[in-house]
Amino acid sequence: AKRNPGEPEYLQAVSEVMESLWPFITRHPRYLAQSLLERLVEPERIVTFRVSWTDDHGDVQVNRGYRIQHSLAIGPYKGGLRFHPSVNLSILKFLAFEQTLKNALTTLPMGGGKGGADFDPKGKSDGEVMRFCQAFASELFRHVGAYTDVPAGDIGVGAREVGYLSGMVKKLTNRADCVFTGKGLPSGGSLIRPEATGYGNVYFAQEMLKRQGRGFDGMRVSVSGAGNVAQYTIEKAMALGAKVVTVSDSSGTVVDEDGFTPDKLAALMEVKNRLYGRVSDYAERVAGTRFLAGATPWHIPVDVALPSATQNELNVEDAKTLMKNGVVCVAEGANMPTTIDAVRMFESNGVLFAPGKASNAGGVATSGLEMSQNAMRLSWPREEVDARLLEIMKSIHESCLHYGEREGGRVSYVDGANVAGFVKVADAMLAQGVV
Ligand code: NDP
Repeated sequence: AKRNPGEPEYLQAVSEVMESLWPFITRHPRYLAQSLLERLVEPERIVTFRVSWTDDHGDVQVNRGYRIQHSLAIGPYKGGLRFHPSVNLSILKFLAFEQTLKNALTTLPMGGGKGGADFDPKGKSDGEVMRFCQAFASELFRHVGAYTDVPAGDIGVGAREVGYLSGMVKKLTNRADCVFTGKGLPSGGSLIRPEATGYGNVYFAQEMLKRQGRGFDGMRVSVSGAGNVAQYTIEKAMALGAKVVTVSDSSGTVVDEDGFTPDKLAALMEVKNRLYGRVSDYAERVAGTRFLAGATPWHIPVDVALPSATQNELNVEDAKTLMKNGVVCVAEGANMPTTIDAVRMFESNGVLFAPGKASNAGGVATSGLEMSQNAMRLSWPREEVDARLLEIMKSIHESCLHYGEREGGRVSYVDGANVAGFVKVADAMLAQGVV
C-alpha cells in the first residue's frame, strides 16, 4: 500500500489474488524465491503521455494516455485500451495485473498489459474520435509491436477506434504487422472476435452448471452493461434457451419480463453500436420493456447473473438480494465487477461464482487466435474459431477445477483461476532468472 498510494483498485485486485495464493505458496515455498511475488506486483514498465487533439470547434483538448506493460514473461504484452473519463493509473494497473494471470490461463503465449486514456467518447463526432485516436497512436506507436506489445479494445474502444489507431500506427511505421487485435474483418480481424468475450463467458457458465446437472435452457438471466460483452452474452444465452430479462448502462436498467429475442437484440445493437445512444432510447423502441433510471439489474430475481459492464458494479448488498431471490450462478463478463466481500458471500453460500480472469478470457484468447491467423496470413472460418474458443473455455474451466476443487466437490473458481494463472507466469519468471 505504501508503494502504491491512492490506487484502491490495484490494491483490491492484488489483495484478492494474494489471498488465494497464500495457502498454495505455503505448500510450495519455491515460489517465495527471487522475490518473485514482489516482482510480479511491480509492472515492468508504465508509460504516460500527453494526448492533444483539436475538437470540432477548433479548440485544442488535452487528455492523458497510458500503457501499462505488466509482464513479458510468457509472451508479448497483451491487453486492451480503455477510453473512459474514469481511467486512471490505479484502474489500468489492476487491469494489467489481472490480464497477466488471465492470459496465462488461455493456454496461449501472451504476456499482460493494459492502457487507455481519460477521454470520453460519449457525444464526440466521428471526426473527433478519429483525431483523438490518431493523436493517441502518434505516441503509442513507439511502445508497441507484433513481438513487443499488442493492444486491443476495451470499454469505449471497439472496431472503429482500433481501425483509426492501427491506421495511424501503419502510417508511422510503414509496416503492416499485427500490432492490434479486434480489427475489422477487411483489416485482418478474426471472425468471432467481437462475439468472443460474451460467448466465452456463457460457455464457461455452461461448464459450471453442467457439473451440477443443469444448463441454460429455461434459466432466467440478468445481464448488466449494453456494450460489446453484454450484447454477445445475451445472444449466446438466448441461443442456449435462457430468458434474458435485463440490460443496463450507466444511466439505468431496462427490464423485460418477456425476455430478449433476436429482433430486440438487433434493436439494442442499432441503438448502441450505430447511433451511440442510451439503453433508455432502446426501451422507447421496444414494447413491454421498463426503464429504471439509475438502477442496476441486481434486484431483479434471476437464476444466473452475468455482470458485463465495469468494475465494482455488484456489491455485497446486491449479492444478498440476488441470493435471497435464488441465484445459482454468477459469472463475470466484466473485469472485477464484483466487490471482494460480495465474492466471498457467493463462494461461502454455495453460489457458483466465476471470476472474470477465467470466465471473460475468451476475448483475449480469440485475440491470440487473431495474432496466429495474421502471422500465418490466412483466416479461419467462423466455425473453426468458435470451436477453438469453446475448447479454450473448457480448458480454463478444467484448470480452475485442478487448483480450486475442495473436499466434497465444492470448487473455488477464484482460487483455482488465481493459482493456475500464477503457476504458469511464476514458473516462466523463475526459469528466466532475476531480470
Ligand atoms: P463497451 O464500451 O462496449 O461497453 C461497456 C458497457 O458498460 C456500456 O454499457 C457502459 O455504459 C457500461 N459502463 C461502463 N462504465 C460504466 C460505469 N462506470 N458505470 C456503469 N456502467 C458502465 O465495453 P466492453 O463491453 O468491451 O467491456 C465491458 C467490460 O468487459 C469491461 O469491464 C471490460 O474490461 C471487460 N472485458 C471486455 C473484453 C472485450 O473483449 N471487449 C474482454 C474481457 C473483459 P455507458 O455507455 O453508459 O458508459
